[in-house]
Amino acid sequence: MGLDVNTLFLVTIYVEAMLGLLLLFAWIQNSGIQAVAWWGGAHLLRAASVALFGMYGTVSDVITIDLANAILFTAFAVTWTGARVFDGQKPHLMYLVGGALLWLLACRTPFFADSVEARVLLSSGIITAYTWATAYEFWRGRSEPLVSRWPAIFMLFAHGSLFLLRTPLSQVLPWSPTSQVFDSVWLTVLSFEALLFTIAIAFILLAMAKERTELRHKTAALVDPLTGIANRRAFLEEATAMTKRQVNNPVPTAVLLADLDHFKSINDRFGHAVGDHVLQVFAETATAKLGPCDLIGRLGGEEFAIILYDASRDKGLAIAERIRLSFEDAGAEVDGREIGSTVSMGMVVCEDGMIDVPALLAQADEALYCAKERGRNRIEVASLKLVLERDEDAPEFAAAPSAA
Ligand code: GH3
Ligand code: MG
Ligand code: MG
Repeated sequence: MGLDVNTLFLVTIYVEAMLGLLLLFAWIQNSGIQAVAWWGGAHLLRAASVALFGMYGTVSDVITIDLANAILFTAFAVTWTGARVFDGQKPHLMYLVGGALLWLLACRTPFFADSVEARVLLSSGIITAYTWATAYEFWRGRSEPLVSRWPAIFMLFAHGSLFLLRTPLSQVLPWSPTSQVFDSVWLTVLSFEALLFTIAIAFILLAMAKERTELRHKTAALVDPLTGIANRRAFLEEATAMTKRQVNNPVPTAVLLADLDHFKSINDRFGHAVGDHVLQVFAETATAKLGPCDLIGRLGGEEFAIILYDASRDKGLAIAERIRLSFEDAGAEVDGREIGSTVSMGMVVCEDGMIDVPALLAQADEALYCAKERGRNRIEVASLKLVLERDEDAPEFAAAPSAA
């Protein structure tokens, strides 16, 4: 192996410092994700510890071994804390300094000071523990669909495993044993791996933060923040996608428009906050009655649209009736107040598959109008008119432009 350890140290210090600054810069630009600052700080700490390691032989071992390792372990602890912060947990002082304290205390014992094997074992154990803990943190938050989470977990696990195995491996491999640690090929291999790991993990962590920001923007553009269901734009997009899927495989589909009754008076009598809660109760009760292929969205105000996939007239009416009754029940009392909230619905059914969502919603709207006229808290079914007869003056249901 022709790699010079000193050159490798210098390159590592430079790379760690650059990556640390890069991450801090990324955090300043988008301070929404605090974990990026922690990860940047970890790289800077690693740069400092490698700089101290590089002074081996020129200054006291207390600085080049004891202190350098303590800083290195803290760097791994900071990366772990970043992973915890990334998934919504608080930083913990003991987690941050635990590894470094354990190391410094061990360094004060005579046996430990004399045994290179024991020191290598403990330092490997601490690094592995922190690295695996970071991988575990990311694995725990896996319900958030970030693709870059998986390479991060894999890399951290692999890096931790290598550190754990370095003592047994160094006995087996035909390279210098750990007792000559500072001249060994083994150290070159480990330093080189650590350099590649640090570059790769910095970019993966940055990719995770970027992916999360994009996911949040996308979600904010498509989800109604009050009820958590699709907003008008997302609903119309999903419904249009459903229409396209039905071109070759048409199934009976029911389109429903729901409007809460006398909602203005609920706001007036009980306040806007209670009104908001009633909207949430409706979204919850309606969603609970839907199947996995059905769609629900809040079109605006107290108006909701629902598409029941594979629902004939009878099935559609039965589901709509269940929604109406369960909301009558759930909306009777909200926030301890007797609200007596109900919903009216208009429905239209296409036995041969959905063709034109805006036209169907316009027809459901006519049926909804009848339901209001006929006393509210009821469902009316419109007889399906051919799409060609569609009222072209129905801009209210014009499909929204596609997502940016
Ligand atoms: P109808 O039975 O005929 O549907 O009467 P309504 O009172 O429900 O209908 P109207 O359209 O007169 O009133 C709708 C009200 O919904 C008016 C508006 O202030 C209220 N509203 C719209 N969006 C929200 C919201 O996000 N939160 C709350 N609390 N109220 C809202
Ligand atoms: Mg309304
Ligand atoms: Mg209303």
